Amino acid sequence: MAETHNYVSGEWIESESGETAQSRNPADPSEVVGTVQSSTAADTRRAIAAADEAAEEWGATPGPERGAILRETGTILADRKASIVETLVREEGKTRSEAGGEVQRAIDIFHYYAGKASDIGGEGKESSARDATLSVRQEPVGVVAAITPWNYPIAIPAWKVAPALAAGNTVVLKPATVAGVTGAKLVEALDDAGLPDGVLNFVTGSGSVVGSVLTTDERVDAVSFTGSESVGDTVYQAAAEDQKRVQLEMGGKNPTVVAADADIDEAVDIVGSGAFGVTGQACTACSRAVVHESVYEDFVAGIAEYADALDIGAGMTDPDMGPQVTQSELDGTLEYIDIAQSEGARLVTGGGRPTGEPYEDGYFVEPTVFADVDPDMRIAQEEVFGPVLSVIPVDGFESALDVANGVEQGLSASIVTDDLRKAHRFVDEAEAGVVKTNEKTTGLELHVPFGGMKASSSETYREQGDAGLDFYTLSKTVYLN
Ligand code: NAD
Repeated sequence: MAETHNYVSGEWIESESGETAQSRNPADPSEVVGTVQSSTAADTRRAIAAADEAAEEWGATPGPERGAILRETGTILADRKASIVETLVREEGKTRSEAGGEVQRAIDIFHYYAGKASDIGGEGKESSARDATLSVRQEPVGVVAAITPWNYPIAIPAWKVAPALAAGNTVVLKPATVAGVTGAKLVEALDDAGLPDGVLNFVTGSGSVVGSVLTTDERVDAVSFTGSESVGDTVYQAAAEDQKRVQLEMGGKNPTVVAADADIDEAVDIVGSGAFGVTGQACTACSRAVVHESVYEDFVAGIAEYADALDIGAGMTDPDMGPQVTQSELDGTLEYIDIAQSEGARLVTGGGRPTGEPYEDGYFVEPTVFADVDPDMRIAQEEVFGPVLSVIPVDGFESALDVANGVEQGLSASIVTDDLRKAHRFVDEAEAGVVKTNEKTTGLELHVPFGGMKASSSETYREQGDAGLDFYTLSKTVYLN
């Protein structure tokens, strides 16, 4: 069992509260994977003070030197990949393959931003004055608070921490408590890579205590948050009041349109992997299949067969689908299943917990498909964050577009079609930060920007790729005469 401590000024320390929270294996909650500190407001302020104190020196450290530490961090993560995968599987419930993909993403992110650290700096411009030089340079923002969810407990911290450090900022990272042991693996790698004291600090605890101090303390210059829409709203209000820079990445209600000309087997694979991969616990999970009536019944039969064939189990056995992360996430999914039935949606398959060994105690739920879903039903409008797919029939491409766009969120959207004209129209008109054709809604390469439209995101700043650095840099125009 891992006893995880806070990491402040380069030291692993206990919270002054003397209390810890347990992190349990979602496939077998009797197994305690580790403990994390239940930190207080004072613990959090101490971490902010450490980041504040280290900010000037780290900001003045040459980019290539910062990059070398990030590169070494990526290498250390790669060396420890197998054991981090095991922790991630046991703590968060992903399958071994899914966890392997996630840890690899964290490694790749560190190597990617290691290179970028030498490129940040700015550019020279011609001045209209003869003896002057004009340039624009990028400076660090200062102290960054990174507040992260449990569903990608190492990749999401990595895609905030790596660009923040590359650009010369110092960071206080607050992971979600239920996956804090995995988050600490990233911090250990940075510590072992030689990151100077105070440059990264790690504090676990509740959102209402640690999170609120991070969003209100005046020494914090910027807050990068990924999580639910309701918490995102609170974070935004608090941070904006203090004129902090804020980045928000929140939920999705992502559609895949299945056009009349779609190959049904291909559409079933695309929708099924998008809906049930990572147990539907991805912000970009496909939760709505918007299907043309001419292929509707074939699609419903195909996706039901796909869901029924999925092998559900504990992540270490590498099944097709693991459990949900906690009892409350499982309860939330079961509640939405009840809501869908009471709204009149047709349950095609799933709809409950799998029975018998080894499912008795774990937070397992069946992959579930509802058909004949009306676009206005709650099941078609609200994020479930579990393996529940709504299939919505439409009578044409225009109505498919209306349904796809007819939600508050706008994170990812895809279409299955061989018709180039429809593909282009979809790309033009889909209200989503990521739009794909003949691909699942989940997954994106790391060198391109990621973020949503509408209620899914703060829209101003994107994560990943070059654009991922914008949030962490301030532009200064310099006129030298
Ligand atoms: P959550 O909103 O409950 O928690 C996210 C983080 O915010 C946690 O660290 C939590 O402790 C903290 N927090 C809670 N209250 C706070 C407060 N008052 N002030 C500051 N921080 C506070 O989300 P979750 O359940 O951990 O994650 C699931 C959600 O995350 C889903 O809605 C999912 O769509 C979203 N998500 C979005 C993306 C994206 O990039 N768009 C990626 C992954 C997950």
